[in-house]
Amino acid sequence: MLKVKCFVCNTFCENSYVVYDSNTKECAIIDAGFYYADEEDAVTDFIEREKLKVKYLLNTHLHLDHCFGATYIANKYGVGLSADNEDIMLLNLIPQQCEMFGIKLNAPAPELKNIIKEGDIIKIGNYPLIAISVPGHSPGSLCYYCKEEGILFSGDVLFKESIGRTDLYGGSYKALNENITSKIFTLPDNTIVYCGHGPTTTIEYEKEYNPYL
Ligand SMILES: [Zn+2]
Repeated sequence: MLKVKCFVCNTFCENSYVVYDSNTKECAIIDAGFYYADEEDAVTDFIEREKLKVKYLLNTHLHLDHCFGATYIANKYGVGLSADNEDIMLLNLIPQQCEMFGIKLNAPAPELKNIIKEGDIIKIGNYPLIAISVPGHSPGSLCYYCKEEGILFSGDVLFKESIGRTDLYGGSYKALNENITSKIFTLPDNTIVYCGHGPTTTIEYEKEYNPYL
């Protein structure tokens, strides 16, 4: 089966995920937000303990809190950063953003190696993740959906009882709302949603209780 381990990282309480096929041991790291040394140790210890092979460094989008650990993971495991290039501007803005928030940047962000677009399939062991393009929180926001396992990684598109902010560079409330309604709320009700911040939820729950949609 496809297993999911969540690490809550950095000052923004960002959720970084290790997603792995428990049979083949292949894994992807979704949104490497690891900032502090103990956060880096926690994920590498986990990968070692479970004997995982890191195949991908996937990003839902390229805001700084989802990228702090990208260089560390890329160097440690020899994987390139994969994301939608509509967010490339955000990657370039990370040093300025760190300055704005008074955060010391451990390492410059890695370059974007693999461009992911709507409908692209990333295989983790025997499980395909399909990329769904959901702009609105950022221009290149992607969700990753595994139909076989009924799980979705929503990044900062959808949270439990909330949605991503739309007042940052390239954001649009109208686009986010329309895209969630047409592309995310059409997934099966029992889909488990792993969010970029906060607790896990389901499509059914959000359709009923999300006050923003
Ligand atoms: Zn974000």
